[in-house]
Amino acid sequence: MRKICPTQLTVINAVINSSGSTWQIEHNCPQCGAPVVLEETDRLFRCPFCRVRLFIWSDEFFRYFIPPAEPAPEQIVFAPYWRLKGIVFSLDGTEISNRILDSNILAMNATPLPQSLGLRPQVLKLRYAMPETPGNFIPPDFPFREIKGNDFVDPLQLARPAPSQISFRYFIGDIASLIFSPIFLRGNQFFDAVLKEPLGGPVSEDFQNRLRAEKHEPSGRIVFLPTLCPGCGWDLDAENDSLVLFCRNCNHAWQASGGILSKVDFLFLPLSDDPAAWLPFWRIRADISGLELKSHGDLLRLANLTGIVHGARPDSELHFWIPAFKSQPNLFLRLARSLTLLGKEPGTGAEPPKFSKVPLYPVNLPIAEAMESIRVLIASIATPKRLVLPHINDLEVSHGADMLAYLPFELQGEEFIQPQLHMSIQKNALRWGRLI
Ligand SMILES: [Zn+2]
Ligand SMILES: [Zn+2]
Repeated sequence: MRKICPTQLTVINAVINSSGSTWQIEHNCPQCGAPVVLEETDRLFRCPFCRVRLFIWSDEFFRYFIPPAEPAPEQIVFAPYWRLKGIVFSLDGTEISNRILDSNILAMNATPLPQSLGLRPQVLKLRYAMPETPGNFIPPDFPFREIKGNDFVDPLQLARPAPSQISFRYFIGDIASLIFSPIFLRGNQFFDAVLKEPLGGPVSEDFQNRLRAEKHEPSGRIVFLPTLCPGCGWDLDAENDSLVLFCRNCNHAWQASGGILSKVDFLFLPLSDDPAAWLPFWRIRADISGLELKSHGDLLRLANLTGIVHGARPDSELHFWIPAFKSQPNLFLRLARSLTLLGKEPGTGAEPPKFSKVPLYPVNLPIAEAMESIRVLIASIATPKRLVLPHINDLEVSHGADMLAYLPFELQGEEFIQPQLHMSIQKNALRWGRLI
């Protein structure tokens, strides 16, 4: 396990409470070549000139670079920074807390480069780093998962010598990407290739040799997919940040994986006749090793709620319900907890309605991030917590199957209400979620 050095943690903490930043990407239209500016969260590329609509897919994570000033004074090298934006849930002892993370961090060890990109990506337009992009792109020295996953060490834990106090942090990401920043070496000093100003102290001989010896292209692929239904050729419905696209002609849902559109299973829970919106949830069957957690009854026992919650039968298979949309952290956990405990069995309802004109709220939290949140959800449900939380990191959560379940919500004033399930969501909380 790689520990993050205290300087990196300071940087992460320093920006943790910064206001939401939006980064923009400029890309030339793959069809007509016109320059188009996208938001960082956009998954739909819409060209205002030739009207083409394309879904942007990347393997693993998106890679961007900050364009250097022209003409480049010397040989440009691109230094990697991990970009993280999302929610961090912290499990400290028996407490679960959360905060929004909006940060970037140098992905190289032992260099005098700044630990963070500062405000530059908010001022400059980024570009996609693709395998054909010219330049020397230094690969990160450590993978994103090592920052993001459960190695995400709590700095307080380092400072506080209390071994009984177990602390874990989980990152539920909205954005995880790699940003390459242009630099050049003059003498034994790095210079920023945008402002042409010196960066940090002297560069060691070893590191200079490494830079001279290595030449890397940006790895990974970015694919622009036509937003036409692979089943029937109809135009697919999607908002700019949608990860799932719908065909209202043949009633199929699609998501990009492996560079192609593939089908997503979904269902509608017809609880209300006249909904104002359909909100999506990932309904996940996951195998948990390290806890007896196979049936809904097992979950109720974990929650110390046997005989109180009337939903699924105790012997029915356990499904985790995770909001498939970004929302405020407390709301996210509250919705996941109540729907999972309720264990609604969709098969017992009436036939799902055909698509209506009622808007489908966009799916903008991918299944991988929903999976990441299952440990936090288990921790949140467990009662009493002291028996489960110390072991939460030892649980192995593996993906079984998933489908999207849409719940109908009615609008009452400023709240979305699900009357049968006694759930309410502030309209503002959803709006805020899309800004995370
Ligand atoms: Zn175009
Ligand atoms: Zn279709």
